[in-house]
Amino acid sequence: MGVTLDLSRSQIADAKPSSGPINLAGLTREGLKAALIAGGACAPDKARMRAAQMWRWIHHFGVTDFDRMTDIGKDVRAVMADRYVVARPEVTERQVSRDGTRKWLLRFAPGVEAEAVFIPGVGRAGALCVSSQVGCTLNCTFCHTGTQPLVRNLTAAEIVAQVQVARDDLEEWPSPAEGRQLSNIVFMGMGEPLYNLDAVSEAMTIVSDNEGIALSRRRITVSTSGVVPQIGPLGTKTNAMLAISLHATQDELRDTLVPLNRKYPIAELMAAIKAYPGLSNARRVTFEYVMLKGINDSLADARALVQLVRGLPAKINLIPFNPWPGSPYECSDWATIEKFAAVINKAGYASPIRTPRGRDILAACGQLKSESEKIRASALRQAAD
Ligand code: SAH
Ligand code: SF4
Repeated sequence: MGVTLDLSRSQIADAKPSSGPINLAGLTREGLKAALIAGGACAPDKARMRAAQMWRWIHHFGVTDFDRMTDIGKDVRAVMADRYVVARPEVTERQVSRDGTRKWLLRFAPGVEAEAVFIPGVGRAGALCVSSQVGCTLNCTFCHTGTQPLVRNLTAAEIVAQVQVARDDLEEWPSPAEGRQLSNIVFMGMGEPLYNLDAVSEAMTIVSDNEGIALSRRRITVSTSGVVPQIGPLGTKTNAMLAISLHATQDELRDTLVPLNRKYPIAELMAAIKAYPGLSNARRVTFEYVMLKGINDSLADARALVQLVRGLPAKINLIPFNPWPGSPYECSDWATIEKFAAVINKAGYASPIRTPRGRDILAACGQLKSESEKIRASALRQAAD
């Protein structure tokens, strides 16, 4: 299953709207240097130094106004302000849940909207769940995003922008050495990150840079529904922590829940996980398993799950199913989930049950769906009326 998108566009082309100033906010160091030269802001032999200066302002201090870049001469700043911007996407909606979960709907371009969610108390301090695509091609039957066609891949800059917007909102600039609120990133928002690996990898390079947001790659988790050929490259390119959306232990059931399984069945998926670079007790793979009433939640299923992951350094994350309007499943009963977890614990695997967060603002896993889609749907309904 492929995504027919042209990913060959250069960084600058990504950052530069069809007209108007170049946005420097989400470029790599190399991209920033190239943009400074291309925009005529400095001579090529000065670009490295200038880019390093700008990098700290943009990624360590979170500054978006050239006037605040006080170690850059006034005339240079004026030229900069004329030719470039350090811009954030428009935040078209912001919601804060009773439990502290925050959700932002970001508009990158007309019809290109995605959500990011900050969940306090997950990971070391708090995790930001980011989107890698608008929509998804994969149609997992329990996932709301899967009901939305792919609009397009997000660029690296657009992925980084989700982190920047969250940090603006949390008032977490400059990058704190200790006591961060946003300590982890999980690619568990909209889309399949391994169908957009180049952009995901570039975004990780930017947010893990020590002179910027400086998030350790060990605190960045990429979740995949099982794009087998890209699992190895994910490890070699990014060193990310790996999470696998398993949800079933037999091909017959997984074929219906995660249709990608028909292309990459469980045996191939497990082989790719075993070969994941850097897998060890300190860097375990997480298996995500959504609890669907009467579908995959029996004790026999729990035993089969233990059997399947035996021998791997693994964690098993049980996710109570988040229903959405029209969803064809129900969440397993709490008692069933606890019994299921007990089988896994007994076999020696940690099996945290992911407590539902942000449910009052529809911010939970699998519920992320862009506003543009809802608007399109309501427009269609009105047209039909
Ligand atoms: N496409 C990637 C990452 C995004 S989905 C993937 O599938 O792994 C992030 C996680 O949310 C996945 O484990 C997915 O299976 C889970 N998920 C999707 N819909 C859900 C729902 N309605 N309830 C609970 N978890 C869901
Ligand atoms: Fe896409 Fe992941 Fe949802 Fe499946 S679960 S439809 S791969 S976002």
